Amino acid sequence: MADEDLRRTHADFGSGDGDNKAIGHTASEDGHADQSHLFDQKKRDEYAQMEGVNQDAFRRTGDNPNGSQVIGNPKATAAQISARFQQSETDTTISEQAAKRYGHHDFAAKNSEYRGPSIPYMLSNNPKAGQWDGRKLTRNMIAAYKRFVVTDGEGIRNSIYVSGCMFRCKECWNASIWDFGTGHPYTQAFEDAVIKDLEPDYVEGLTFLGGEPFLNTPALLKIAHRARAKFGDTRNIWSWTGYTWEELMRPGTTPDKLELLGLIDILVDGRFIASQKSNLLQFRGSKNQRVIDVPASIAARKKALADGLVRPGDAFCGIAAEDSAKVKPVIWSGLHDQTLFIPEQNLKDRAAGEGTY
Ligand code: SF4
Repeated sequence: MADEDLRRTHADFGSGDGDNKAIGHTASEDGHADQSHLFDQKKRDEYAQMEGVNQDAFRRTGDNPNGSQVIGNPKATAAQISARFQQSETDTTISEQAAKRYGHHDFAAKNSEYRGPSIPYMLSNNPKAGQWDGRKLTRNMIAAYKRFVVTDGEGIRNSIYVSGCMFRCKECWNASIWDFGTGHPYTQAFEDAVIKDLEPDYVEGLTFLGGEPFLNTPALLKIAHRARAKFGDTRNIWSWTGYTWEELMRPGTTPDKLELLGLIDILVDGRFIASQKSNLLQFRGSKNQRVIDVPASIAARKKALADGLVRPGDAFCGIAAEDSAKVKPVIWSGLHDQTLFIPEQNLKDRAAGEGTY
């Protein structure tokens, strides 16, 4: 894949070759039927290692409904892992119960197709509000920094790819940086260099991708505040996230996420869902994702507040669940999806023209 394509969107990294399919459970098209490869020692070790990252987070939040002693234990025996997979047969039920309880959409309900590699159970990429706390999860690692790119938002931009993502969407192109420890430490020298790269007039702004920016809030808040202090609104900030707008809005969302959201101009939201992948979408990989104008959305919320659609006591972005449907995120007015898949059309044009002279 061309480098340009690689940079297009953090959720558009969805056309991977499926290397990871052999590692985790539920990602493969064969569902739960054949898990024999997991009992290969090497694969089992890889699996246990990957699980460990997720498990570590649940240990911190104390919210692991499946029990922390088996899942993610690097020393788990084959029998323990086998028991784990047998339990996964009931995951749909768990998912349905949770959907009722928390009232949110399970992106993978009843369909293992949406489940990324190494997702241990049906709720693990559907965090409750506040369940994943970037202030605790982050290791302040940067996977990549790309200067003066034209693919990560409008205009010429500088893009920071943070390390670590808990969503683990199937066919995520950036699975190699799901681990929060991947990459290089965020340093003052790095921050200084990024700020300097924003100085040229032709640079429109800064972009956060990953990995999951909203689980790497300490470093991104620092640089976003600094960029705002130095450049005001003359540079804009885009961010991709696996969270949906509504998930970020839920009461109980950690304050660092809302603080970061308040510094962002354009948010591309939602998990990458492989079955909804489309090459016609601008700046996103699957049809469920949206390009949201954050200031316009906040203005809409303020208007809704004035109109009595939300409660005055709600904190910034803390729209009560029963009110959130009344305050939709405002889609960015600059959005231009394609209607034709250009490479395909080019081939047709070429075929039509060849041999006519
Ligand atoms: S949310 Fe995370 S797992 Fe999903 S596509 Fe983005 S980086 Fe990949």
